[in-house]
Amino acid sequence: MKKPLLLISFILMIVCAYTQNITGKKEVVNSSVIVKNDNAITDLPGFTSTQDAEKIVFSIMDVLGLEPNFKIKIANVPNVEADIRHRQRYILYNPEFITQVNLAAKDKWPAIFILAHEIGHHLNGHTVSGTNSRPGIELEADEFGGFGLCKMGATFEQAQLAMHIISNLQASKTHPGREDRLAAIAKGWNKAEAQIKGITYRADRTSQTGAEQN
Ligand SMILES: [Zn+2]
Repeated sequence: MKKPLLLISFILMIVCAYTQNITGKKEVVNSSVIVKNDNAITDLPGFTSTQDAEKIVFSIMDVLGLEPNFKIKIANVPNVEADIRHRQRYILYNPEFITQVNLAAKDKWPAIFILAHEIGHHLNGHTVSGTNSRPGIELEADEFGGFGLCKMGATFEQAQLAMHIISNLQASKTHPGREDRLAAIAKGWNKAEAQIKGITYRADRTSQTGAEQN
């Protein structure tokens, strides 16, 4: 990336510091983590355009039994944001960021997770209350992301893959550290899996295995 772009990104990060971003940064890390996508039980597209995103959002809301009344728009934002303008719920995204995520992931689920995370902000009321990004609400959105991805057929590893690419290891004022975010995704994924299997959800489960029938 060229330096002027970096500078612009930095300025944008400051300008957008009081919104609910998926991450506290613009760049994604080139990841060598590749998860074999052999559990794709849906015909979800990858997130490569606004139309794809609309289909993905429809699918996320469909598994929840809710109407997909979000508008998805390309915007001059550092990465992806949930916002409400004139009582309309928006998901705003930077296509360059999404392209980087898709290239780094070599898997469709991280970009889908990012959409699910933003929907999590809307459904948890973070955008209604105008709450700025802070670790607590980011974990709620991450948990919802893990929940939604499990419901759509992502594996546990696929649900967590986004965090290996976009998150910082260390916590910041706005975003939790990677381990906490992975744990939140695990919590959501396990909750959804328990619902699907009709077993009792145990909040202390943070791994893929170990579900207990009740
Ligand atoms: Zn967020």
